[in-house]
Amino acid sequence: MRIWLSRPHMSGREEVYVAEAFESNFIAPLGPQLDAFEASVSDFLGGQMHCVGLSSGSAALHLALRLVGVEAGDEVWISSMTFAGGIFPVLYMGATPVFFDLDPASWTIDVGLLGEALAKAAKAGKLPKAIVPTDLYGQSVDLDALEALAAEYGVRLVVDSAESLGAAHRGGRKCGTGGDASILSFNGNKIITTSGGGMLVTRSKEIADGVRFLSTQARDPAPHYEHSTFGYNYRLSNVCAAIGIGQMEVLDNRVATRRAINDRYRSELNLPGISFMPEPEGYYSSKWLTAISIDPQQAGRTREDIRGMLMEHQIESRPLWKPMHMQPLFDGATYVGAGFDEHLFETGLCLPSGSDMTEAQQAEVIERIQTLMTKA
Ligand SMILES: *Cc1c(COP(=O)(O)O)cnc(C)c1O
Repeated sequence: MRIWLSRPHMSGREEVYVAEAFESNFIAPLGPQLDAFEASVSDFLGGQMHCVGLSSGSAALHLALRLVGVEAGDEVWISSMTFAGGIFPVLYMGATPVFFDLDPASWTIDVGLLGEALAKAAKAGKLPKAIVPTDLYGQSVDLDALEALAAEYGVRLVVDSAESLGAAHRGGRKCGTGGDASILSFNGNKIITTSGGGMLVTRSKEIADGVRFLSTQARDPAPHYEHSTFGYNYRLSNVCAAIGIGQMEVLDNRVATRRAINDRYRSELNLPGISFMPEPEGYYSSKWLTAISIDPQQAGRTREDIRGMLMEHQIESRPLWKPMHMQPLFDGATYVGAGFDEHLFETGLCLPSGSDMTEAQQAEVIERIQTLMTKA
């Protein structure tokens, strides 16, 4: 590929912080760089949040589910259209996922549908233990509505903000500050990266302390190794955290760049049959990936026509996430919805959106799609 969907984009300062980690010999899962990285994310999110650096976003979700009390046999209600790493931890806990459709007005979890299902489940005495909505492609879920539902029904809320660091909910509340806990990912393709890593963010000191404890092998206070429960080796490497310090310095800039890329696609691919993921009034999406949907009737071209053409020119694009209820793994799982996510999977495409993409590269992507769409 010559033009990628989303690549790591260094600021140049990361190596300075990595060198500091080497100089102090903190080549370990804990150290001053990890503390500084956690503090910089906490500052960015307004200073009220406890942040715990972990080896991945999936690890963060696994621990979040355990800390909010999800147990084997519990139900976890979750967006169907998401990445596997945002779902598999439900299975690690032996819990059962129930999949929810998206709202066509926002392409995030349909809170109306969720509210109806909660009312029904409450009557039947079969409430889920937790709800796990995804900030899809960097756009905040309807956090106010979800937090109100969680409080009304006494269910726990864990927000998957892996794609939305730097984004905000309506009114300016930052993504990553929602629910009982939120999870972030610093995988190589995300808004910022530590090469691989994640973070659990929570207002609750108790949850944060629990995550620190479980992510370092659940060692009870004692001079020897003492264990009253089992843990995991999930803490973020101090060396990787050093990369994260440099990345946090450019986070706002990276989001602004991705938003500018999205704006440009929007204005130049304003063609019959192409529609863009909507951004509800007052929201500020990270536009992690620009997501479009192609109506073959109107466009005269299918999503696969566009994807195949781009691939021939070594330009990477990708269908939207395949909804989990359509995956062979989840054959027979419960799905609540009218299939809007199925429709998006059939017609949706993510366009190259990396913040390191040049204007010339984006112009090429745009031109090639324009040419394909307008020739007879
Ligand atoms: C990337 C991602 C994750 C998982 O993060 P990892 O750091 O790759 O484990 C979870 N959920 C969503 C929506 C993601 O995009």
